[in-house]
Amino acid sequence: MSDHPDRTAEREHMLETIGALFRLTARDTGVGAPPPDVIEALRRVPRHRFVPPGEQRLAYADMPLPIGQGQTISQPYMVALMTALLEVGSGARVLEIGTGCGYQTAVLAELVAQVYSLEVVKPLAEGAARRLAELGYGNVEVRHGDGYAGWPEQAPFDGIIVTAAAPRVPMTLVRQLKPGANLVIPVTRGPGQVLCVLCGKSNGGVNRRDVLPVAFVPMVRGQT
Ligand code: SAH
Repeated sequence: MSDHPDRTAEREHMLETIGALFRLTARDTGVGAPPPDVIEALRRVPRHRFVPPGEQRLAYADMPLPIGQGQTISQPYMVALMTALLEVGSGARVLEIGTGCGYQTAVLAELVAQVYSLEVVKPLAEGAARRLAELGYGNVEVRHGDGYAGWPEQAPFDGIIVTAAAPRVPMTLVRQLKPGANLVIPVTRGPGQVLCVLCGKSNGGVNRRDVLPVAFVPMVRGQT
């Protein structure tokens, strides 16, 4: 990585911004500060490695950026918030829908035992798998496929995170949750979207909490 300048200071600044946004949104989210393990994970992931060459100067700005194929890398605050809302521990097996460049995947891989990630755009799935392997993430499996189907062979999961907005909560994904596990997903609401947390109950029911308004790319139906 000798061709990259040391970006530690920028990354620390990004973490401060994320902390400030958690404080501002605490009333809506119920999370007043990013959990220490989430902060540590964000500190360890080199976000500039997930950002295209033309956007390097903004790699640690707290904003989404274009990654090609009409897709984006999520805003760091949103990655931190969704990760916090998942409430997963170091032994967890997590499913992610919407790998994109793999940044959220890497943050999860720093935190949990195993990450399964589905991406509907083949070049993105291949690029992310290569990048994550180069960075040494051995506890990640990326597959090209349609997230609406989930990953039945590896279900049930300790948490499921969806990083594209769905018109409604896919019940297939709810059924792949362990009891007590959370599904964090942006859902279309009127002209906008709301971030939702669903928690599977042992009787098969679900609790749903709407957290705050968000803006994600739409979840599309794949042909796979
Ligand atoms: N997690 C990424 C953000 C990805 S943007 C990050 O850390 O920055 C959302 C991604 O969801 C896009 O790459 C898009 O191609 C993908 N996507 C959209 N619909 C999908 C579907 N049905 N199944 C899997 N991935 C999907």
